[in-house]
Order: sequence, then C-alpha cells, then structure tokens
Amino acid sequence: MSLSHGRPYLAIPGPSVMPDAVLRAMHRASPNIYEGELHEITASLVPDLKAVAMTDSNVAIYIGNGHAAWEAALANVLSRGDTVLVLATGRFCIGWGEMAAGMGAKVETIDHGAQSPIDLARVEEVLAADKDGRIKAVLAVHVDTSTSVKNDIAGLRAVMDRAGHPALLMADCIASLGCDRFEMDAWGVDVMVSGCQKGLMTPAGMSFVWFNEKARAARGNCVTTYWDWRPRVDPEMYFQYFDGTAPTHHIFGLRTALDMIKAEGLDNVFARHEKLAQIIWAAFDRWSSEGPMHLNIADPAHRSHAVTSVVIGSPNGDALRHWCEHKCGLTLGIGLGRSPADGYFRIGHMGHVNAHMIMGALGTIDAALKALHIPHGKGALEAASQLVATA
Ligand SMILES: *Cc1c(COP(=O)(O)O)cnc(C)c1O
Repeated sequence: MSLSHGRPYLAIPGPSVMPDAVLRAMHRASPNIYEGELHEITASLVPDLKAVAMTDSNVAIYIGNGHAAWEAALANVLSRGDTVLVLATGRFCIGWGEMAAGMGAKVETIDHGAQSPIDLARVEEVLAADKDGRIKAVLAVHVDTSTSVKNDIAGLRAVMDRAGHPALLMADCIASLGCDRFEMDAWGVDVMVSGCQKGLMTPAGMSFVWFNEKARAARGNCVTTYWDWRPRVDPEMYFQYFDGTAPTHHIFGLRTALDMIKAEGLDNVFARHEKLAQIIWAAFDRWSSEGPMHLNIADPAHRSHAVTSVVIGSPNGDALRHWCEHKCGLTLGIGLGRSPADGYFRIGHMGHVNAHMIMGALGTIDAALKALHIPHGKGALEAASQLVATA
C-alpha cells in the first residue's frame, strides 16, 4: 500500500521546501512595473541580500538560475585567454570551470576527487609557482552539492595572501547561502554567486552576484550587455529598467523569505542548520555501524549543513529513493558524480526545514532500509531523537 498521500517533503538539495508565506506573497495580480511598491520592495532587497552574505560590497540581481550567476560572474571579470584555477571538490566547480572554458579562458584544475575538501597547502604551492600572476581568478565552491563537502574559504584567502597572489577569489555559495555560515568581507571573497531557490527559500528563477571594488576594477572583455553587472548595481538604471520586465512575483516572494531570515536571526538560522545536520549524522553513525553504508564526507568539519551525500555501498540508491517517494511522500536527491553501483543519494536539508521534518525523513529512510534489506546498524532513530531532546 502507499502511505504517501499528505504533505510531500522535497528533501533534495534545491529547489528547497518553499514556505507557505513565500508562496502566499507571490499569489497576487501582476503589479505595476513602472512605479510604486515593486520598486520600493526591490530597493529593500539589496541591503538584506548584502546582510545574508555579510558584505558591504555590491550585489547584482539577475533573472536566471545559478548557472546564470556563474556566467555573469565570469563574464564581468574575464578576458579571452585569461587563466582560471578551478579547485574541484565535486561536480559543481568543474561545471563552473567548463563555463569559463566556454568563454575562452584557460582552465587549470586541481581535482580533489569526490570525498575531500580543498587541499590548501597544494593550492598555496600552485599559486606560489605562478610568479607572473597568470592566474586571474581562483574558483571555489563553498559547499559542493554533489559531494556535500564544505570548503574552508577563509583558509583559501589566507593561502592566497601568503603566496602574495593577486588573483580574484570567486566563491559559489549557491548551496550554502543562508544555511552554512559565510562571511564575504571578513573572509576576503571578491566575487560570490548564489541563487534564490536553496537557502533563500524562493522558487527558482532569481540569482545574484556579489562583487567588491577589486572585482569591479578587474573588468575583462567577455561581458555582454545583458550580463554587465554595472547597471544592475546602479539604482537609477536598475530599478527603472531592470533590463526588461522585472521578475515581479519573485521579488515579492524573496522579500518574504528575507523577512523570515531576519525574524529568525541569521546566527539562529546557521545554528538550526548545524543542529539538524548533526541529527542526520548521528543517525548515519548508527546505520553505518554495520555494512558498507557511510557518509561521503568523513570529517564533520568539512560536511555541509545543507546537504548530505550518502553511499549505501550497493546498487540500491535508486530503489531507496523510489521507495521513500512512492511509499512515504519523501523525495530524496539523486546521487551525482558516482557510479550507480555505489548506491549514492543525497538528502537536502536547506532552508525551511525543522526538526520534525528531519525526524520524518530519518524515520522514512530507516523504514526503507528495512523494507529493501539494505544492511544497516540499529538505533539510528534513537540517536537522532536523543540529539533533538537535548538540543
Ligand atoms: C544548485 C547549484 C548550482 C546550480 O544552480 P542552478 O540554479 O541549478 O543553475 C551551482 N552550484 C552549486 C554549489 C549548487 O548547489
């Protein structure tokens, strides 16, 4: 029988669960795009978008997904023939690098594989060896959503400074913004990209590029009119013209989502994500105590608080996801970047997620492991419940 009828839980690493308040804010007639409320709300988004990124620098808003922000960020700083250093820790930084290559950049990649964070010592060597500063930008993903690794972005800035290297530090925070602590200015990040559909709890369709004055000055020859970030940070130009029609309903939705983050408090948002992630890890510690199942990232200090990649160790990943969805109404994320034989899947726990949802997801996975006879240790739900009880 199916027990799935009721409210579904989309536990994939983006899009995330959309709050009813955000959906309600979007459920309205089309507004006047030439004057009035829409312009005021758009202006109000700017300081709050800077606040979630902990920066005083600029933020450009685009109508597009994360890939659009990737392209916008690269296009504004690169010239054809420039070299970029890609610090791959999963699929996503590789994808960003492929986009740079498509723009005519030379791409050098340090590939850390699918289970390890950026090796800062190795990056320092590569940068120190680049005596004439050929590398124009270093591309890093804060949380790589395929592997669920979290990279030390502040540490990356420290080794760039130690190597005395002038490259721009560009970070992808599409999976981490509003989930894992990220401090753009304190950590010395020059360019950061994110989207609205993960930690920012708004239906996919808006993305953002934050950039400082160093990045603005780095201007190359790849940028075309639509992607140019300069008019987008000029209120006279942007709020008036928006390079076309404003993403009307998204603006209302994002306003509400940012209000929710403000009301909870950014530190509390980070603390909630951290605790919920620890509850998930506690369950996996028990499940992994028998059989080949394990979390993809061994070191908790390098695990994302927004997404968790799991290796079952048998080709049962798809069967487990399908069981959870059809039997119980829980949709888990597909595995990215590993062979199906490993039984790889991901749990998204970003944004509008609380303890009862996580306990429900863990209970469902526990049932799936039993139903599908996937080897696992006992006591996972007990361990998770203990952590909730003492939170
Ligand atoms: C989701 C994601 C992307 C891609 O964003 P889209 O909106 O799907 O284009 C890029 N990088 C990371 C780290 C992501 O999590």
